[in-house]
Amino acid sequence: MVTISLRPLSRHWRLIAALAIVAIAFPAWWRDVHAGSRGGTNPNLLWYVKTSDKVAALTFDDGPSPTATPKILKILESHHARATFFVVGRVAREYPAIVRQEARAGMEVGNHTYAHINLKIHSPAQDMEDLAHTQDVVRDITGRSPSLMRPPYGSYNASVIAVARHLKLKVILWSWTEDTKDWTNPGVSNIVSRVVNHIQPGDIVLLHDGGGNRAQTVAALPLILNDLTAMGYRLTTVSHLLTYASRRR
Ligand SMILES: [Zn+2]
Repeated sequence: MVTISLRPLSRHWRLIAALAIVAIAFPAWWRDVHAGSRGGTNPNLLWYVKTSDKVAALTFDDGPSPTATPKILKILESHHARATFFVVGRVAREYPAIVRQEARAGMEVGNHTYAHINLKIHSPAQDMEDLAHTQDVVRDITGRSPSLMRPPYGSYNASVIAVARHLKLKVILWSWTEDTKDWTNPGVSNIVSRVVNHIQPGDIVLLHDGGGNRAQTVAALPLILNDLTAMGYRLTTVSHLLTYASRRR
C-alpha cells in the first residue's frame, strides 16, 4: 500500500524539483538576455563600461590586413584617437610589421585566437593552446602579451571564461547598440549611423579591419571620428576605458 501511494508522490516531487531548477535558473538567464539594450550582466564579461564621461572604445577585429589596417592607423592618428585591435594570431604572424605599427602608435593589441576558432565548440585544452599560442605570437612581435581577449563570433561558455582567466585575459565583447555589422558591407552611411546614433559614454564599438574587403569601414572611420569628436567624445583603448569604471565624479 505504501509503495503504491508513494509512486504518484515521487513523480510529483520530481516535477517540483524540475520546476525549482527552472525557477532558479530562469531569472539568471532572463537577466542576462534582457539586461538592457547595451549588454548582459555576467561579471566575467565586458560589453561596456559604466561611466558618465564621454569616452568610448573603437575595436577592430580579424586583422591585421595589409590593405585596411595601415589606412585605419593613419586615420586614427590624424584624429588623435586610440583603438584596440583584436588580432588573429595566424594573420599577425603573416604581417608582424603591421602589428608592431599598431603597438608603436599607442594602440592596444588584443587576442582574437590564433585561427579564428569558435572557442565554445572546442575542448578547454584546445582553447588553452590556441589562446596561449596567440599570446606568444603577439608578445614576440610587440614585446607585450595582450591582456584582453575577444572570442570570435562572441561565442563563449563557462570553460572559455575559465581558460581566459587562467591566461590572465579579460573577455571583451561589445555594446549591443554598437554592432556596426561592417563585415556585411552595409554601406558607409549605415556603418556611421549605427555608431553615431546610439553612442553612449563607456560604449565598446565593434568594427573589423580584416576578414574581407574593409573599404567601407575605412571610408566610414573619418566620418565616425568627426561626428563623435563634435559630440565631445574621446576615443581610447579598451584597457584605458576600463579605468573610467572605477573613477568617481
Ligand atoms: Zn572575428
